[in-house]
Amino acid sequence: MAEYTMDAISVDGLILPLVGQGGWCLGDDKARAAEEKAALRRGLALGMSLFDTAEMYGGGRSERLMGEALRGVPRESYQLCSKVLPQNAGRPDIFRSCENSLKRLGVETLDLYLLHWRGGVPLRETVAGMEALAEAGKIRRWGVSNFDVSDMEELWAVPGGNRCAVNQVLYHLGSRGVEYDLLPWARAHRVPLMAYCPLAQGGTLRRTRQAFLTDPVLLRVAQKYRVGVLQIMLAFVLRHGDIVAIPKAGTPTHVEQNAQALALASDIDARDWDDIDATFWPPTAKMHLDIE
Ligand code: NAP
Repeated sequence: MAEYTMDAISVDGLILPLVGQGGWCLGDDKARAAEEKAALRRGLALGMSLFDTAEMYGGGRSERLMGEALRGVPRESYQLCSKVLPQNAGRPDIFRSCENSLKRLGVETLDLYLLHWRGGVPLRETVAGMEALAEAGKIRRWGVSNFDVSDMEELWAVPGGNRCAVNQVLYHLGSRGVEYDLLPWARAHRVPLMAYCPLAQGGTLRRTRQAFLTDPVLLRVAQKYRVGVLQIMLAFVLRHGDIVAIPKAGTPTHVEQNAQALALASDIDARDWDDIDATFWPPTAKMHLDIE
């Protein structure tokens, strides 16, 4: 059961800061590795202590780079979230996948382990595997990703399915479909959403990044608060106060800008949010869950 504070969500004692750090593409370019590790550590120092990665990202490169970046840091000072591929989400593969993620990250326990998206393995089997991993102390909590309302309803019908801690989905200013039904469902069941691509890197409904960066309303609001358009976009996700955002940034400067977005979310006044809403409409009907 989730509890909410100003800058974090607690899920049965697991504290998740509202602003975490994404891990997609980390480690893909060796020449950027040192800067990426510095960025992760800078974010940690600024309170962005939740790190999101997956066995899929670079075939393990992202997990390895995160593990290297966090080596020597007291384990209790950060939270690690990784994901199992759908084809590995049954027994016994889920145990091997989790063990391999732990090895690459260089830790004994994951704070969160998510089913990356739904595949052919029955939910009942995945839930049983997740619960066994928790029982064995390999993970603290488990969750899902890319689950729409109907998937969540199915999950809730499975024994133990309502022990799901989070649902990680694509959500940004240009892709607001979840506000129509998934977000209300998540609130009613107290299962926090984690927003991926909060800086509009992906999503089928996206405008190009350039279209956001040159949008007159976003530019006006960004200038008013002396920040960049992407910080306004991150603040848009964070203004809800009960959604975790995991922007990925590969440089300390970008991380610092992203860390400011939480305070910015409460600084922006209602009229500016109204202008933004008038340009980037909230959904008025059910939309397919957007994915990257
Ligand atoms: P994102 O966070 O929306 O955008 C990342 C991009 O924005 C990077 O190119 C980054 O560049 C740039 N950026 C970050 N901060 C910036 C700033 N302050 N100013 C200018 N540019 C900035 O996209 P994402 O990485 O796709 O999504 C975030 C995380 O969500 C992923 O890393 C991953 O952990 C997770 N994710 C999950 C799923 C899923 O299916 N569950 C799918 C996609 C993503 P630099 O690297 O140069 O800083």
